[in-house]
Amino acid sequence: MVKKVLVVDDSPLVRRLIKKALSQHTDFSVVGEASNGQEAVELYEKLRPDVITLDVTMPVKDGLQAAKEILDKGSQTKILLLSAMGDDDLLKQASSIGIEHSLQKPFKANQLLEALNKIAGG
Ligand SMILES: [Mg+2]
Repeated sequence: MVKKVLVVDDSPLVRRLIKKALSQHTDFSVVGEASNGQEAVELYEKLRPDVITLDVTMPVKDGLQAAKEILDKGSQTKILLLSAMGDDDLLKQASSIGIEHSLQKPFKANQLLEALNKIAGG
């Protein structure tokens, strides 16, 4: 079954790279994109994606706060946190709220696909 992906990042360039990587993969379909955590929570409600690629540092509402709100709803959605170098403390916080998967930027298309396959493939 095709997995629905919500792409969340305040950088249009990163969103474009992720969409391009996933367009070459038939198991994943990007159903929406958001540029901050508030939009991410709203689109999660609307689209119920299987997976969210979630940037950490964003305006309005950051990735961790958005993830917390989404997970607090008892969501089965898998979250892949996209962190930057030096985000070790953030990753610790992420794991304390139940986010188990992260990928450090910059990443290559195949690393993204590998990570998504691992958490949501099959
Ligand atoms: Mg960012």
